[in-house]
Amino acid sequence: MSAPQVIGVDLGGTSILAGSIDREGRVHERREAPTPTGSQAELLEGIAAAIEPLAGAGMAALGFGIPSVIDRGTGRALGSNNIPLEDVALGQVMSERFGVPAAVENDANAAALAEWQLGAGRGAENLIMLTLGTGVGGGLVVDGALFRGWAELGHLVVLADGPPCQGNCTGRGHLEAVASGNAGDRAAERLWGEGATAELLVGRAAEGDEGALEALSGIGHLLGAGIGSLVNIFGADLVLVGGGFGNAAAEFLFPEALDVARREVQLEPFRATLRILKAELGSDAGVIGAGLVAFEALEAS
Ligand SMILES: [Zn+2]
Repeated sequence: MSAPQVIGVDLGGTSILAGSIDREGRVHERREAPTPTGSQAELLEGIAAAIEPLAGAGMAALGFGIPSVIDRGTGRALGSNNIPLEDVALGQVMSERFGVPAAVENDANAAALAEWQLGAGRGAENLIMLTLGTGVGGGLVVDGALFRGWAELGHLVVLADGPPCQGNCTGRGHLEAVASGNAGDRAAERLWGEGATAELLVGRAAEGDEGALEALSGIGHLLGAGIGSLVNIFGADLVLVGGGFGNAAAEFLFPEALDVARREVQLEPFRATLRILKAELGSDAGVIGAGLVAFEALEAS
């Protein structure tokens, strides 16, 4: 008999990514489908439809990374970003439907779990992960365990009264407002007019464009301020940065971010040991993390 495989599902606002995953975190087969957002019933059907083609013989458990605040006692999603998933125990619903153990985790936590166990954070006792995409998300490993609570690392204030945040957030100067792909778009538009993007900004920086380099260094500066505060709170000296924008702009963001973060860090030894590294698993981090959550459900069953 072959080793058990599970299915991990990374549920995003625009797409559902499902993959069959083995114990080593390898993704064997994957399915991607648009996220139905018309109603909760449609969404649940869409999730099941993404799982079904992968759920052949040997599916031992299901794991979900969801953009939601989760009640730890009941596993219910209390509220979600950008999708109609509210007051529902998704793990229980899918466990009954497919007849295997299932569990849910917040998507940012799931990605951090994957990077910690199988990516750039292997072996770390403490780490902070930040995902710089359209928005900013993140997860934490504290004292050798994934932090499973609700942490909105993207909504850390790094510039009081700064630019307004995104979506429903009423805050200003949050990390997400100044160090996301959207912030990169706005910086590009300031340089080259409407329609210029973060992608162009990074491309021009690679060609040595002064304005682009300065803008990215400015974003790195505020990213570093956020990182310094997080290091002071959680006592981690390893910071992983991923996400589409974080990955693409890493070489232009990290040097300034590291300088500023070191300046802000209160505990002297951490100033020397602090590292900011690129996350390794790319856009697979979420689905691999969901697979690890499935293996946890299997072990607990
Ligand atoms: Zn915010």
